[in-house]
Amino acid sequence: MQVCKTLNEWREVSAHYQSSLGFVPTMGTLHAGHLALLERSKQENKHTVLSIFVNPTQFNKKEDYDFYPRQTAKDLQAAEAHGADIVLIPAEQEMYPDGNIMPITNHAPIGTVMEGEYRPGHFDGMLTVIMKFLHIVNPTTIYFGEKDYQQYELVRLMVKNYFMACRVCCVDTVREPSGLALSSRLARLDNAGMEKAQAFAAVFHEGKNNPLDEIKQQLMQIPVNVEYIEKLNDRLYIAVDIDGVRLIDNVKV
Ligand code: AMP
Repeated sequence: MQVCKTLNEWREVSAHYQSSLGFVPTMGTLHAGHLALLERSKQENKHTVLSIFVNPTQFNKKEDYDFYPRQTAKDLQAAEAHGADIVLIPAEQEMYPDGNIMPITNHAPIGTVMEGEYRPGHFDGMLTVIMKFLHIVNPTTIYFGEKDYQQYELVRLMVKNYFMACRVCCVDTVREPSGLALSSRLARLDNAGMEKAQAFAAVFHEGKNNPLDEIKQQLMQIPVNVEYIEKLNDRLYIAVDIDGVRLIDNVKV
């Protein structure tokens, strides 16, 4: 018999019995960014689960939720072609059987700035659904993209603070040759919008070490509306609105 007197001991013992299961949560409309997470999980685990769930509680604007792109049949083909072992597509009713009466509420400093400030309630909704998925899937490792770096940091904090035995892995942002970070929301832009998005990426990446006001001025000339541009620790974060489509990015500086 094994006796565990610390949580670390317990983790070591229980890890021995756990299977090797990677988990990639997504909101669908899969692109090469999502598939990079899937690839990484496949390299590191025996089995990989990918979920597709457009989580209503993390949208602070109803129209953003309503217009969020959805293409499940195409996503299933992509997931299969890239070797997902399981795709989980739960119904909203099942994920929130009692409405949203047990939300996770975040007070971490990293969750109250930028996306936390400009999208009130977004991170609470995101953490709530990830907590639910972690309990459902019980993965050895959960995968997130660097593109949503605040999200990754918050999930890491939640997993640590709730003593959850799950590794949280961050995968590099996948970009177009223009430097534009791939995003499901790009599906909503027409050609002119895509050109603005690519010009935005060029200014952001080429100017990342310039004064923030200068970057903002250049972006306004495209024209691109800047919601915020902020430096925090060793990263520069940005959120913009291009033809009514909200895009975010961040880079190490
Ligand atoms: P989403 O479907 O937008 O909720 O994204 C699901 C996961 O894919 C999140 O962990 C994102 O950070 C990640 N992701 C989205 N876009 C990219 C990208 N361009 N490169 C890497 N990861 C990404």
